[in-house]
Amino acid sequence: MDEHLPWHEPLWRQIQERRAVGRLPHALLLGGPPGLGKLSFACRLAQALLCESPGAAGDACGQCRTCRLFRAGSHPDYSRVQPEDEQKSGEGDSSAGDTGSGKKKKSKVIKIDQIRDLCAFLDHTAQYGGYKIALLEPADQLNVNAANSLLKTLEEPPGACVLLLVTARPARLPATVRSRCQLIRFDRPATEQALPWLTARMTGDLDPATVLDVAAGSPLVALSYAEGDRWRRRRELADGYDRMLTGRLDPIQAAEQWMQGDLAENLRWLIGWHTDLIRLKMNPEPPRLSHPDLSPWLRRWTARQAPRILFERLDAVVQLYTLCTTAQVNAPLLLEAFLSEAAGDDQSGVQKTSV
Ligand SMILES: [Zn+2]
Repeated sequence: MDEHLPWHEPLWRQIQERRAVGRLPHALLLGGPPGLGKLSFACRLAQALLCESPGAAGDACGQCRTCRLFRAGSHPDYSRVQPEDEQKSGEGDSSAGDTGSGKKKKSKVIKIDQIRDLCAFLDHTAQYGGYKIALLEPADQLNVNAANSLLKTLEEPPGACVLLLVTARPARLPATVRSRCQLIRFDRPATEQALPWLTARMTGDLDPATVLDVAAGSPLVALSYAEGDRWRRRRELADGYDRMLTGRLDPIQAAEQWMQGDLAENLRWLIGWHTDLIRLKMNPEPPRLSHPDLSPWLRRWTARQAPRILFERLDAVVQLYTLCTTAQVNAPLLLEAFLSEAAGDDQSGVQKTSV
């Protein structure tokens, strides 16, 4: 994305002011919620720092030799580090074992070998005589050994180099790494700034303010809801959930519906709804809901249950999400069990309230 996002501008100016007086930190930790464009900011900064004739606002010219190399992904003084597959129970980093046999649990991490390569890269003099730039994203995926091997470079950076660590979860980085970086904190923009930006980019008949609410104020997340079929999926799931709770859809069929598409996202919706149910139970007119457009359904669901059950169900959904996203489990089975219990609770809840 080449567009400059309006909510970035104060941070951009701060960094450029520091650069102008020669006080640019050698390690920046770009942290804040997802959907704010932290990575595009980091790329913009990397290109600007490498550019041979940046403009008045500090941006890259886009024309010079180094800008062309940067865009082609072949600038010799720029290195981007991304997580690689790791075999959970394997012996280190060998890739030779990956023959596709058996089911090996893989997770994505930034490994120590990648960081050693990066430190060697930073140790060499810049080929174009300017900065050497490293971009690590998502930086919270540094494994422990990789983070430790980065410490020395963070402490005694070799020459003119800038490390850009991008993460939506700064707290997951070791404190030793965090304390050696200057935090650049990205906050969700004010609605007055986010809404016009979003409205100008949304097509179709969805209400931008509602989509922005459901995206918790993150404009890029909101735009992705509006552009793809995620919004429609969410409504379908809510409709299915309603039919299941009122005995019109079998929990097993409902589980099949939940297993379609991105299960982690589906379960995040479910967590959001259940959080809203508790908000509504505590206060029928809560100051905000995560899913205001689903309010009629949410109100119906919350009316059917005692607070204790709603809290228990939220716990169960969070647990379901954690299990399904971090462990090797039989997700359809767990989902069926959860949905059957929720449907059962609601049927008995109705009987109780009607007695
Ligand atoms: Zn340039």
